[in-house]
Amino acid sequence: MNVPYQNLERLHQPDQAAFEAAIQRVISSGDFTGGRFVQSFEDSFANYCGSRHCIGVGSGTEALWLALLACGIGPGDEVITVANTYVATVEAIVQTGAKPVFVDIEEDSHLLDASKLRAALSERTKAIIPVHLYGQMARMELISAFAKAHQLRVIEDASQAHGATRLSRKAGSWGDLGCFSFYPTKNLGAFGDAGAIVTNDLELADRLRSLREHGQSTKNQHHRFGWNCRMDSIQAAILELKLTQLDRWNSLRHEVALRYQEQLIPAHPTIELPITLAENEHTYHAFVLRSTNRDLLKSQLSEAGIQTLIHYPRAIHQQEAYRHFAPTAGTLPVTEQLVSEILSLPCHPHLTRDEQTYITNTIHDASIQQLAA
Ligand SMILES: *Cc1c(COP(=O)(O)O)cnc(C)c1O
Repeated sequence: MNVPYQNLERLHQPDQAAFEAAIQRVISSGDFTGGRFVQSFEDSFANYCGSRHCIGVGSGTEALWLALLACGIGPGDEVITVANTYVATVEAIVQTGAKPVFVDIEEDSHLLDASKLRAALSERTKAIIPVHLYGQMARMELISAFAKAHQLRVIEDASQAHGATRLSRKAGSWGDLGCFSFYPTKNLGAFGDAGAIVTNDLELADRLRSLREHGQSTKNQHHRFGWNCRMDSIQAAILELKLTQLDRWNSLRHEVALRYQEQLIPAHPTIELPITLAENEHTYHAFVLRSTNRDLLKSQLSEAGIQTLIHYPRAIHQQEAYRHFAPTAGTLPVTEQLVSEILSLPCHPHLTRDEQTYITNTIHDASIQQLAA
């Protein structure tokens, strides 16, 4: 059997005709960027997140970058975040001229450890970017309280957490700004690149609308420097359709994750299964286990035709371009330990029971072989 990590074909196939009709509507309208399709999706997504405003942009990376710019963050400023994330989180900080300051993560949840914030704080700190990695939210009540006490902005990187909640509040709606990616493999994915920022703050929303369109306030009136970060109408039309299925797809992912938990409990003692924090609703963008024999397990699964990924094989401060942002040695022990142990199993809404049983059986066989060796 061959089990790919993703299967977008199965996701899209049932709605093929609706997608084609949506694309045809955009073609007929001649309205290809910004405009009514984008506006309509923005309204729907803001509503879904429980936020007042949504600003569609070209990617999740642009969402993060513009969010920082809208908060006035630039050279001389520091932004606290984690080093176990996709590079874009940190890249956006560096693009503004600000300095990323890394804090360690919690051993069990793999998310930002709020108890480490104080040690990372300086008089230059302007913002915190918690990353809701793998589909569950960081401890936002603690992060928000810390930010409030020190007058910091909070920008959520919710690129892997569309629809996730903490204390019944949606990802993206907790911070000053919430950033999303709609890269095709995300829980809500476009047919190409797209992203968005949600916020309750009208002033920030206006600034973001201006920043994404060359810093203009009204047509040809440029009050600030901006860039072209517009969302395409075709992506907006597709996202609007897919948004109606997001909750169903997330619950299918949840079922897959529950089955992994049930089937893998008796696995080898070197395997540790992921946990969900109390008060979190997890959307399982990824099902990430830990194994002290990770590389061997990955190759055993690969030999059986099962594709796995590592999110991510290096922490950001271990990447060549970011080495000079590495904190004092010993500051990120959990982050550095995890990168060699994590493994993401296929976990998408249309993984079949047979495929999943094949995966878990292969893991059990691999564990027995590893024990015997
Ligand atoms: C995907 C992702 C991004 C970047 O989004 P793009 O749309 O690819 O630019 C940023 N942060 C995290 C955590 C992501 O998973």
